Amino acid sequence: MGLSKTIWSNPSEYLRVEQPDNPVLFFAPTAIQAAARRFIDGFPGMVTYAVKSNPTEEVIENLSAAGVRGYDCASMFEIDLIRRLAPDAAIHYNNPVRARHEIAHAVAKGVKSYSVDSASELDKLIEMVPPEGTEISVRFKLPVAGAAYNFGAKFGATSELASELLRKVADAGFIPSITFHPGTQCTDPHAWESYIREAAVIASRAGVTIARLNVGGGFPNHRLHGVTPLLEETFALIDRVTTEAFGANRPLLVCEPGRAMCGDAFTLAARVKAVRDGTHVFLNDGVYGTMNELPLIGVIDRMEVVSSTGAKRTGEVVPRIVFGPTCDSVDRLPGDLPLPGDIAEGDWLIVHGMGSYSVVTNSRFNGFGELQMATVLSLKV
Ligand SMILES: *Cc1c(COP(=O)(O)O)cnc(C)c1O
Repeated sequence: MGLSKTIWSNPSEYLRVEQPDNPVLFFAPTAIQAAARRFIDGFPGMVTYAVKSNPTEEVIENLSAAGVRGYDCASMFEIDLIRRLAPDAAIHYNNPVRARHEIAHAVAKGVKSYSVDSASELDKLIEMVPPEGTEISVRFKLPVAGAAYNFGAKFGATSELASELLRKVADAGFIPSITFHPGTQCTDPHAWESYIREAAVIASRAGVTIARLNVGGGFPNHRLHGVTPLLEETFALIDRVTTEAFGANRPLLVCEPGRAMCGDAFTLAARVKAVRDGTHVFLNDGVYGTMNELPLIGVIDRMEVVSSTGAKRTGEVVPRIVFGPTCDSVDRLPGDLPLPGDIAEGDWLIVHGMGSYSVVTNSRFNGFGELQMATVLSLKV
């Protein structure tokens, strides 16, 4: 995916002039910097970025420029990327299962914060990581509530095991902390509440005063017209509940948003390849491309259609079945999409809020998936 150096006014200007036949992701640096500042100004603690949600170099550079000083990394690739683009930033290696060569790599790169959710993986860290000035956060899980997607299915210790691990972390001379991830696209601020209260129970049962509580990612981006992300309300709830739960032992707070940081900084334009016999719409992008997440966590309704001259289609809405370009029948957007009835071959379907888990899931299945990126001043079509 190449990034052209020209900066365009908005997506329709680019589409009208370039007439791209490949899918295009439009990136607005002003939008990602605004998202970063909203977290930095509002969140009552340290703001880090979950690199996996969109590791595009321009994203990291703009977050750094906006003042983000920490990055949640899950792999050697991500650690090296951050060391190169933001050499002074803190790296939190928060993938709780690591091969020994990955741990050695992190130690060599000066990583000072790790998460863990099992006794066997904690033993590996104790064996390989020098404890001085190094944090180990114990990750725990609760039965899911309020999330669009269950993260606890793979990672997280039970509350009881978390207390045992935390005791062991402290005894081994590491800085003891706790972390959790409430799920992704949590539109209800209360998704964080029971986790924060349980974290206080875990620490007190272990008899350990924790240095930091990392409340994970999971903050929503703007996917549905009727559901505006309640970030400030969520920050206020996290702040209040942490004080209530921990009292005098209140830890410093950390968050690691992915989608809420990058999601609304990108808009997708997928071209209509065909309207088959006037009914089914076929796009040049689909679930094997940048729209991989839509069947998992739900479709985005912030969509519009523009013609090849850049004019907005305004025909009466008709529900349509929409397919991606591959020959696999699962390559279909979920449900029926309400699209203007005058949608035609050569039009573009514009989908807003497409910055997270899109670039990274784009595969080259069936030879499709060549993606372009263009920088714009504004994402307004
Ligand atoms: C994926 C992930 C995140 C980011 O999640 P979002 O829902 O995109 O905010 C944060 N922390 C951890 C440990 C993750 O695995």
